[in-house]
Amino acid sequence: MSTPDPSLPRIAIHAHCYQPPREDPFTGRVPAEPTALPFHDWNARITAECYAPLVHARDLTGHVYVNLFEWMSFDLAPTLATWLERHAPHVLQAMIAGDAAAIARTGHGNAIATTWHHVILPLASPRERAQEIAWGLADFRARFGRDPLGFWCPETAMDDDTAAALCDAGLRFALVAPNQIAGGAWSTQPVTWRQGDRSLVLVPYDGQTSGAIGFTNLVQDGAALAAALLRGATTHGVTSVATDGETFGHHKRHGEMGLAAAVGILHRSRQAAVVGTEALVAVHDEWPEAQLVSPSAWSCAHGVQRWRANCGCRADHTRPARQQWRGPLREALRWLADAIDEGDGERDDAAMPAWDARTARYAMFTSCGWFFDEFEGHETRILLRFAARAMAGRADAAQLEAGFVERLAHAECNDRALGTGADLWRRDFASLVRSEALVAR
Ligand SMILES: [Zn+2]
Repeated sequence: MSTPDPSLPRIAIHAHCYQPPREDPFTGRVPAEPTALPFHDWNARITAECYAPLVHARDLTGHVYVNLFEWMSFDLAPTLATWLERHAPHVLQAMIAGDAAAIARTGHGNAIATTWHHVILPLASPRERAQEIAWGLADFRARFGRDPLGFWCPETAMDDDTAAALCDAGLRFALVAPNQIAGGAWSTQPVTWRQGDRSLVLVPYDGQTSGAIGFTNLVQDGAALAAALLRGATTHGVTSVATDGETFGHHKRHGEMGLAAAVGILHRSRQAAVVGTEALVAVHDEWPEAQLVSPSAWSCAHGVQRWRANCGCRADHTRPARQQWRGPLREALRWLADAIDEGDGERDDAAMPAWDARTARYAMFTSCGWFFDEFEGHETRILLRFAARAMAGRADAAQLEAGFVERLAHAECNDRALGTGADLWRRDFASLVRSEALVAR
C-alpha cells in the first residue's frame, strides 16, 4: 500500500451519481421515455453519455484512457446501482474497481455511501431517516465489500438530527456546501460538528470552482480546471469540489475528457495529490469545531423549504414562482405514510428494498418530486405512482385514498386547466390503486 506524499496539498473531486427511480413500481421496469430517444429511457441515455465514458475516459490527447472512478471521490445512489447492475454491469464493476484501485494507491477508498432513496433527511421521520441510512450502508457494504466512512446526504440536506443519525450509523464525515457551515461561507476547510459524545467531520466544497464546473465550460478545458484546483489546494492545503456526476459528459459534452486531462496534469505536476474525500479528511486527526446551519442544503437558500414550500427556488426563473403545491404534496404524503404505518403496526423493515408496497411507501418521498416547478411534471408524477403502489391491494386502500386525495385537493397544478392534485390523481392514478391485475404481478 502506498500513500500520497504527506507534504503535498490534497484535491478531492466529488461526483454525486444519481438518477430518479424511473421504474414503474408495479412492474419494476422503466417505461419507454420518448424524450430520451434514440435511447429507451434516460437511465440508458445518461449511462451512454456519462457513466460509461467516465469509466473509460480519453484525455484530451485521445491516446490515454483512464477510469476516472480511480481518481474521483463519488457516491453511487443504490437506486442507480440497482439499475446499472441489470443494464450496464460492466460500468458498475468499473466503479467498484475504481474504489479498490484508490485504496491500493492512497490507502483510502473513493466511494462514500448515500441513502437508498433520494430523500430530504431533515424532513424524514426519525425512523425513516435511520432506515434510509441503514439501507444505504447495507447496499454499500454489499457492493464495495467494506464499511463506508463518508456519506452524501441527498441535496446535501442536513440538520443536527441528521448529523447525529450519521454518527449513530458509524459514519465519520459528510459532504456539505460551504454555506452549510456557520460562518463558513467561503471556507474550504473541513470542520468538526459535535453534539455530546458524537462528532462528525463536515467537508465543504469550494463553492466558486464547483459552481464553475457545474455552470460554465471549465470542465471542457483540462488545463484551466487543473489550474483552478491547484490554486485552491496550494492556498488552503486541501480543497474539494462537488458536482452531479452527470455533469461530465451529459450536462457538459466531453466533460469527462477535460476531467481526465486535468487529473493527468495534476498527477504529473507533483504539486498536489488527487485523492478521494476520505484521504483528504485523513490529513489531520482533528479539524476545528464549527456548527452546522440546521437545516440547510446545497440547492435551496431557505433551509429545506424547497421540498415543502413556495420558497422561490425553482428551475425556470423566467416564470413567476408558483410552487404553492409543494406544501400540500408534502402534507398528503406524510399523512399517507403515517396512516400506513398505523395500519401496519410495529414493523421490521430490515429487508432490502424491492418493487413492493412497503418500499413504495419510502420511495414516495424522493426529493425530485418537489425540486422542479410543476406539480403535473414528470418527477412529481413518479411520487404519485409510488403512492398508488403503496396503497394498492390493501384492505384499507379506499380509506387511505380518500384521506390522501382530500389533501391533494389543496395542491394546484401549474397548468390551471388540469385543476388540482386531486383532479390529476383521479384522472391518471386512481385506477392503479384499484387494479388487482397490476398488484398481482
Ligand atoms: Zn429555497
